[in-house]
Amino acid sequence: MINLAIIGGGPAGYTAAEKASKSGMHVVLFEQDTLGGTCLNVGCIPTKTLLYSAKQYYNAKNATKYGVTAEGVQFDYAKIVQRKTKVVRKLVAGIKQKLNNEYCQVVKGFAQVLSRTDEQVVIRCGEETYEAENLLICTGSTNFVPPIPGVKDNPAVWDSTDALAATQLPQSMIIVGGGVIGMEFATLYHELGVHVTVIEAMPTILPNLDQEVVNILLDKYRKTGIQILTETKVTEVCENKVITTNGEYEAEHILISVGRRANLNGLEALDNLEMYRGGIVVDEMMRTNLKNVYAAGDVTGKMMLAHVASRQAEVAVGRMLKQLPLQRIAYNAIPSVVYTNPEIACVGLTEKDLNDIKEGDFAPSMNTDEPFVPYEVHKMPMTYSGRFVAENEGEMGLCKMIVDKKNKTILGVHMIGNPCSEFVAAASFAVRMGYTVHEFQQVVFPHPTVSEILKEVL
Ligand code: NAD
Repeated sequence: MINLAIIGGGPAGYTAAEKASKSGMHVVLFEQDTLGGTCLNVGCIPTKTLLYSAKQYYNAKNATKYGVTAEGVQFDYAKIVQRKTKVVRKLVAGIKQKLNNEYCQVVKGFAQVLSRTDEQVVIRCGEETYEAENLLICTGSTNFVPPIPGVKDNPAVWDSTDALAATQLPQSMIIVGGGVIGMEFATLYHELGVHVTVIEAMPTILPNLDQEVVNILLDKYRKTGIQILTETKVTEVCENKVITTNGEYEAEHILISVGRRANLNGLEALDNLEMYRGGIVVDEMMRTNLKNVYAAGDVTGKMMLAHVASRQAEVAVGRMLKQLPLQRIAYNAIPSVVYTNPEIACVGLTEKDLNDIKEGDFAPSMNTDEPFVPYEVHKMPMTYSGRFVAENEGEMGLCKMIVDKKNKTILGVHMIGNPCSEFVAAASFAVRMGYTVHEFQQVVFPHPTVSEILKEVL
């Protein structure tokens, strides 16, 4: 008997498969495409690889501000894309290696749930059927195609997967949706000299992040030539033309990045599975409402981040193994990064989260159990860090820390400035462990590093 069937081999699926099989569970992992899922194949890793090339080019062109002259700086986009493919292949091979043990079987193909009882789940993949004690659904998400006339089947319209596959750069690009995907692609294309227009329906880009931090990015991007339209809705797309509530815009390609939706194909037999807003409902231990069925990753519609997916997978497997102490996922301490230039990195509650709740309420959309608290804000420009000034000529940055006014617990940290993605984990640790300002001040940070700003700010 198989102890655990996992559908989907992305960060949730492969993490669960590795952990469960190394703990002695007999695991079958079904993947219809390539191990690594969206993150590794058409998401985080290829995007960051392309962004790194763009940053090298941008830095070389702007090296004079550091007293270095580089003449005739050029790039070969086909080679940049080739390198991206090489990086992805290498990492996929690494995952295959990790799952190569006697307890883990990887099956390539589309898995469909045929039936379920409290004792077993039956799955078909190709010609074979598999019976398992437990099922972990890790089917991920796909780009959402909005029902805007002229979008579907239009060769000028790309989603992020098309953009990553292209081997030639467009001359100009309209990006619909100023969220995380939209702003990372805006960065990539802009740094490589493409004319970029971002169209965002909300009053601001990156609407869920701290707006003081976002405004620093917005100012820089507008000054350096990215056209950013907010409170602008796309009503129609006509070949290369985008018709909006704010005028008409034209570009060689139009990238649509307005969110992602959970993949539920193959799960139709689980007709009593509880859903909320298109995602599978799970508790803190990743159990669905059906006994022996768990879900992890984007399919839960919680926070669509690879590191959330892998943590959810660890928690789910820990629950199946009845490992003590029982683990839960702490959504209030999940860091998130936007790989713009400069980077944005944050964790925990924003001022808006805290302002949106009334006394006695529980904190907002993040599923935390933090009660409402009066708070104080500590903030400081990144230019107070010696290392930041040395390495970021002419750049702006900000570090903001949100602290519980009464007991001085650190509730949230919001930063912009390179390389804040590399040290936001220290802030996550503080939020996760419920550190007070006094406790955090006793931690020693290496000098000179930009991370010291986390202590300077207090
Ligand atoms: P998103 O939800 O982050 O942003 C979508 C944006 O599109 C929002 O700002 C929204 O207001 C806007 N929008 C929606 N409909 C619109 C319309 N018709 N016209 C104009 N604007 C419209 O979604 P995304 O950027 O597509 O990213 C999808 C998921 O992938 C997110 O959950 C994101 O966190 C995740 N992701 C994370 C990273 C990272 O961690 N660095 C990178 C890429 C993607």
